[in-house]
Amino acid sequence: MATLVIGGAGYIGSVTVEQLLGAGEDVIVLDNLSRGHREAVAEGVKLIEGDMASPAVLKRIFHDHPIEAVVHFAAHSLVAESMIHPLRYWENNVQAGITLVRCMLEAQVRKLVFSSTAAVYGEPTQVPITEDMPLAPTNTYGLTKLTFERILRDAERANGLRSVCLRYFNAAGATERAGEDHDPETHLIPLVLEVAAGKREKLAVFGDDYPTRDGTCVRDYIHVVDLAEAHILAIRHLRGGGDSRIYNLGNGKGFTVREILEIARAVTGHPIPAEIRPRRAGDPATLIASSERIIRDLGWRPQLGDIREIIRSAWSWHQRHPRGYGASAH
Ligand code: UDP
Repeated sequence: MATLVIGGAGYIGSVTVEQLLGAGEDVIVLDNLSRGHREAVAEGVKLIEGDMASPAVLKRIFHDHPIEAVVHFAAHSLVAESMIHPLRYWENNVQAGITLVRCMLEAQVRKLVFSSTAAVYGEPTQVPITEDMPLAPTNTYGLTKLTFERILRDAERANGLRSVCLRYFNAAGATERAGEDHDPETHLIPLVLEVAAGKREKLAVFGDDYPTRDGTCVRDYIHVVDLAEAHILAIRHLRGGGDSRIYNLGNGKGFTVREILEIARAVTGHPIPAEIRPRRAGDPATLIASSERIIRDLGWRPQLGDIREIIRSAWSWHQRHPRGYGASAH
């Protein structure tokens, strides 16, 4: 039996595919390559180029392959874009998700691991954030993810589809072969490293008047490999007959934008100039996870929690792939 990884050519998806293979799992990837990269899919893995919004594509896959479980990464995930093109987010993150659930049920596939997000909490009332805290997304991206979580709750109650929703905090870092390559890039750590690599002149720091220790936003950065490991535990939980769960995934430690800059300067040896710019719409001041629930329930243990190591791994990948995928240095 295989696991179907939808969005397995993307950043977190491709690393999860790599880890699943390492754990001896049989994997098939479905990706429309709109934001993912063919080169990101580990060698030897079957890549089906197609869109999960198409019932015909999904039906064929479920017909042709013995799929036991689905891991679903294939969503749009940019806060700012979701505010400018909200319908794109509703279509891709909710409508296509419903198509997926329908096709899974038709094919009697009833195990799903879903990439959710800390954005479901909005501006938290306290940190670290636990899963039972208020859900009040401040942007369309977070709202579409929360909506799909709710759909999954119904799909368990009414249709017996069991799921694990993983609410990611800030994914960062790289493996030897897979790293972060978005176009356009909007995430802090890759942008900081692009300045260090001479590809950008300076970093724009979005706001220095937040109620944090140095005025810049605090985020909980988690190594992409630790995130990936949680998906394997989630699949095993469902395989063992476990019921639906929702888990946060973070390190429980927060770093400000200025602190990330300082660490990146130390790692790269580059001065990384930065300038303060206005706040970015929809950015909460502080997001720090409590991941106690998944640690307790599934025995998840982040192994690569050191922020220096996270940035170092991203820098090392960046140096080996200065123009990202498709134009590697080697
Ligand atoms: N950020 C920044 N400059 C940038 C990109 C991001 O100051 O060019 C800040 C952003 O405001 C947020 C943090 O860095 O506080 C992390 O942003 P990112 O986009 O990486 O992740 P998000 O938390 O939005 O998912």
